[in-house]
Amino acid sequence: MEPMSTCKLFGAIRALIGIKNTIPVIHGPRGCAYHIRYLLSVRSGSKIRICSTELSQEDIVFGAENKLEETIIAVDRTYKPDLIPILTSCSTSIIGEDIQKVARELKDEINADIITISAGGFESDQSGGYEEVLETLIKDITIPNQTNEKAEKPSINLIGVFRGGPDLLKLKKTLKRMGVNINCVLTSGSKLEDIRNIPLAHLNYSFCDISGIIPCKILKEEFEMPFIYYPFPMGFSNSLNFFKTLIDHFKLDYPLQREYDKLKPSIDYFHQELNGYKAAIIAGPTRAIALTSFVRELGMTPILISIDLIGEYTLKELQWAIGDAKPKILIEPELREIEKFIEKEKPNIILGGLGESYFSYNFKIPVLDVMHGKELTLGFQGALTISQKILNLIKSNF
Ligand code: SF4
Repeated sequence: MEPMSTCKLFGAIRALIGIKNTIPVIHGPRGCAYHIRYLLSVRSGSKIRICSTELSQEDIVFGAENKLEETIIAVDRTYKPDLIPILTSCSTSIIGEDIQKVARELKDEINADIITISAGGFESDQSGGYEEVLETLIKDITIPNQTNEKAEKPSINLIGVFRGGPDLLKLKKTLKRMGVNINCVLTSGSKLEDIRNIPLAHLNYSFCDISGIIPCKILKEEFEMPFIYYPFPMGFSNSLNFFKTLIDHFKLDYPLQREYDKLKPSIDYFHQELNGYKAAIIAGPTRAIALTSFVRELGMTPILISIDLIGEYTLKELQWAIGDAKPKILIEPELREIEKFIEKEKPNIILGGLGESYFSYNFKIPVLDVMHGKELTLGFQGALTISQKILNLIKSNF
């Protein structure tokens, strides 16, 4: 009745807009494009361009492949993108519009590369959209250009990353300092060229439990590329283990422990200040797991872990992150289940996203957006930033 996850089209668009100079065309009524663009712009604070064929009732009844052709040509000439992904929405999936035929016919007429995604909202939740986009990119963009040459320096691809900003920038710099290059981020901030060159890297690292694993498996089968899927570098220990995993994998000589030891006085301070406070975590699987172990590292008690969707390894990793804590775990919950728990148990802080901000008004519980804002959240510096923000929010609420 009150779902906490959204439709396949949303996931597909979110994954696609991360690719530089890409303009998706949604074949459907204008609302799909407007609502998704609105939500993603508000969450990211960035300009997002999504086009639509803006179908009418008559188009839905009789089909409108001609409108799709016209829109693709107009987008190609007006914006000159490198990639135009064509996506169905609910209505055009139901009437079976042949978007692949339209793409085949226009391939030589437009300058942009073109891919097609069946993305009717009812086909699956957003995870299906993420996954299908990554698989299509690998099959249509990477594989026809495959190469067996490898980069000279240790190099990795991050798979299933849809959030850019300072997190990615900092991660790139930190890894470079350690001797590891990021070859391609699928998809945030990547160019088509980066996606073509995915096989140049030595290792794939999945950053998303629901969309990163299958692409990693395809890349392993096609290019014999090994992959890793945990830990996610959010929190002090998780970041230490993330960097250590890569340093060990590539047998690099880097004084990581010395860097971590310098943080110990800060970690002790936050632990002392936050010890015993209760946290509720409302997030996707990868961040929820990382946040659970992070708040425990700060001496806090996770009393609620709400995860919108789960992937192949989520529950196993979650058990490890929970340790001896006994939080309420809600998997793919309805909104009212979360509200009921929050109202009754009154955590000292909620770690979630923009969608949870109304809890601070309704229940006077501070909410920290650790998913959609532009702040640093990953690596050692991100752990310091989040710890300080949690402390400020909790203290200011007393
Ligand atoms: S559920 Fe269907 S109609 Fe609604 S946004 Fe998704 S694709 Fe469009």
